[in-house]
Amino acid sequence: MVNGTLLPYYTLTGPAPAPVTTAGTVYTNCVVPGTYSISYDDGPSAYTHELLDLLDKEQIKVTFFVNGNNDGCIYDPTVRSVIKRAYESGHQIASHTWSHPQLTTLTVDQITLQMKRVEQALLDILGIVPRYMRPPYGDGTFGNGNANDVKVQSTLKSLGYVIATWDIATTDADIDDNNPVHKLTDDALAKVERGVVTSAVSAAPAGANHMQLMHDTYQRTVRQLSPWSITYIKGLNYKIVPVAACLGDTDPRNWYQTLTTPSANLPTTCTK
Ligand SMILES: [Zn+2]
Repeated sequence: MVNGTLLPYYTLTGPAPAPVTTAGTVYTNCVVPGTYSISYDDGPSAYTHELLDLLDKEQIKVTFFVNGNNDGCIYDPTVRSVIKRAYESGHQIASHTWSHPQLTTLTVDQITLQMKRVEQALLDILGIVPRYMRPPYGDGTFGNGNANDVKVQSTLKSLGYVIATWDIATTDADIDDNNPVHKLTDDALAKVERGVVTSAVSAAPAGANHMQLMHDTYQRTVRQLSPWSITYIKGLNYKIVPVAACLGDTDPRNWYQTLTTPSANLPTTCTK
């Protein structure tokens, strides 16, 4: 049962089915035949409303892995309103931690705080607590020399979180590091990103179910990569759905936990 307000987009009758995903397990690919999920990390940002307009026009639902204090502060009225709009439009709201740290560098208590602060904010804004999360950088799940970090995964499990990463990273966020593509124009970067997606899809078996990672913190992602991706994926006859739905949790009540009360004594601003 979703605590707080029910999702206005969905008609929810009868009891929710049992979730098919498991807390603490790492999922990298969709499993429901014919599905392909696209998801957006690190926001909301100043570009998220424009993205929501696009998703409305295309009539598709996606997953937003939101931060508490990263591109913006989740307690800022404009950030609150865009999260509310995304949720009420039927998109899945999931956690990407409070401040986007590498979780393998933190203690269990610090990881817990990273999750609880987002829970507190989303309880306040939406009346829900996510059941799905994505570790920043995928840290603790693979790569970075920190594959399958037991501390990270067991802590997230104890907090009730399904860990959803990706199998196609579009590289749209690489503009912030030392990747040589940064010297290119937005058009050229978008071309690189399109190439990453088409190469990954072509390299996989036909009909493979992908989880594609993007970031709604880039104007280029909203204006170029997203519309192109949606057309491309639809052209391959996939159905674009939120991450949870492509893993088999098609009832949105299973996208959220049953927690109803925030943790005590957590700050409710981004300055602490
Ligand atoms: Zn991120």
